[in-house]
Amino acid sequence: MYEIKTTSLLKKIMSDYFQSFHNKSTPVAWCTSVGPAELLRSFGFEVYFPENHGALLGASRTSGDFIPEAAKNGYSGDICSYLTSDIGSFLKKQTPLTKQYGLDSIPKPDLIVYNTNQCREVQDWFSFYAREFDCPIYGIVPPRYVGNITEEEVTDVVAQFKGMISVCENVTGKNFDIDRFRDTVRLSKLATMAWKDVLNTARHSPSPLSFFDGVIHMGPIVVLRGTQTAVDYYIKLLEELNTNQKKGSGILDKENCRVYWEGMPIWGKLRSLSELFLRNRTAVVASTYCNSWIFDDFDEKDPFKSTALAYTKIFINRSEQVKLEMMKTIIEDFNINGVIFHDSKTCFNNSNARFGLPLRLKEMCGVETLIVEGDLCDLHFFSEAQSTTKIETFIEQMT
Ligand code: SF4
Repeated sequence: MYEIKTTSLLKKIMSDYFQSFHNKSTPVAWCTSVGPAELLRSFGFEVYFPENHGALLGASRTSGDFIPEAAKNGYSGDICSYLTSDIGSFLKKQTPLTKQYGLDSIPKPDLIVYNTNQCREVQDWFSFYAREFDCPIYGIVPPRYVGNITEEEVTDVVAQFKGMISVCENVTGKNFDIDRFRDTVRLSKLATMAWKDVLNTARHSPSPLSFFDGVIHMGPIVVLRGTQTAVDYYIKLLEELNTNQKKGSGILDKENCRVYWEGMPIWGKLRSLSELFLRNRTAVVASTYCNSWIFDDFDEKDPFKSTALAYTKIFINRSEQVKLEMMKTIIEDFNINGVIFHDSKTCFNNSNARFGLPLRLKEMCGVETLIVEGDLCDLHFFSEAQSTTKIETFIEQMT
């Protein structure tokens, strides 16, 4: 059976990352997953990402225990299930970090930072914790759903990034150091380029990497951007995947068709979905989700402008026309036969199937498209039997 051996190193890296929060003398900043982590790291913060915790709650299938607790406290079951799972787990004083990494609780924040480049939900989510911990909070509010990004828009975000400096100085008691910031951006760039190369190995057939592998191996690019650890990890993973590809070793010996997964993972069903596609000799080789942590624009020579631009032009924050063009490029580059849109019921921000985009994509690129209803964490919204039938019929149509 095909196996990516570097996974054992991933487990160690993620464990070390969570152990770092045991060191109580280092200040902790919470940050959104596509937020300005580099600026925070340049001040010496350990950076914690509540969305990563949300994904862990989904993958460990514990969300169902916690979403009702958030609902009792006024957070509707219809809104982001990362938010409701995470707040519910906090209210119940339970976390999978205890079993997996030996942490008594989530790390306590000294500063909370969010960026609404992905959604407004993070503002409400992070504000809950600012109240609970009586902790300073800083929000970046960039323009949303941008087409071509203007100079004025980037200048606005740069000003908001610079506004963070005095807040970080007050919390850490340290002065801002432009050289440390440049170095952090340099390391982030190296990691994100290696991550891009890792994902691009799936352009080959047979592919040495699936979307389901990608969402596991993306841990360090989310939580350890700006560190040498993340750079080294992706270089090592890339070496293994390149070797496998050259040997002709991949997730399938022979692919009958190649699929692009659009939207969020269904965290609690990764294994069964992966097996379903493999059984049907279908390689899921591309996604907009994993690609969201490729930041081509990072440049340590212009750290503020380049990070402001990179974090504003992410896929989720673009106009539908730009999204269509980005998807078309992926379809061509990865030789895709069909696109599956995951219509995630509690995250409309990451669901692109509701305004006719699948039909327009089909007309534009000639690929088959399918919409699967589900959710990132709340499995009440996912019918496994119905989705399996839909996916198998879809694959039959393509082959
Ligand atoms: S993008 Fe969606 S899943 Fe992510 S935090 Fe926002 S609402 Fe939740």
